[in-house]
Amino acid sequence: MHTKTKNWQSELVDCIHFLHTKGFAPATSSNYSIRPDESSDFYISSSGIDKGTFSEADLMHVNSAGVPIGDHRKPSAETLLHVLVYQHMPEIKCVLHTHTVYNTVLSTLFQETGQLRLEGFEVLKGLAGIKTHDTYIDVPIFQNSQDMQQLSAEIQAHWQKHGFGQGFLLAGHGLYTWGKDIAEAKRQVEVFEFLFEVFYKIKSFSVVSLPN
Ligand SMILES: [Zn+2]
Repeated sequence: MHTKTKNWQSELVDCIHFLHTKGFAPATSSNYSIRPDESSDFYISSSGIDKGTFSEADLMHVNSAGVPIGDHRKPSAETLLHVLVYQHMPEIKCVLHTHTVYNTVLSTLFQETGQLRLEGFEVLKGLAGIKTHDTYIDVPIFQNSQDMQQLSAEIQAHWQKHGFGQGFLLAGHGLYTWGKDIAEAKRQVEVFEFLFEVFYKIKSFSVVSLPN
């Protein structure tokens, strides 16, 4: 059990470094968590740590409500959003939250619409449950808020109506996505960030080319 937990921790640290290298986590931003098997507790990145130098010691053990276990450090206020995902999706073991240029720009531009539709792209097949490019997903965009209780209530209400999907955006803030293991969650981050960039570039090009 101890060995297994250790493996999860080092795999998550590798993933955090990878996301940092990709430019998905500027400065000390973004937060990440892992829920090991057979547990309702989870481990989450402690706040204020540069993700380029993040180590296993920077992971905090918290209970299913996000309260630190034997740790005086302060978890990120956004720990409650990780709690929300874990409480609603028992099969999910990893939650990744990135702040990137494209997810920030698009979630700002489309916040009034309340969603971003990604349609017809081959790479959609990298998301859990999607088997063909000939489909679309609507990524919900919630208004950014420092009030995690209220934000959680809004997200829950959306899930009840539309299902969990594969992730959500917070306007002007970033992406939350998840997976049944670290590899799946990491793949979903890469797919989303790839598609956000593609979507942005297609839209930019369309605007430039409109006269034709
Ligand atoms: Zn954030």
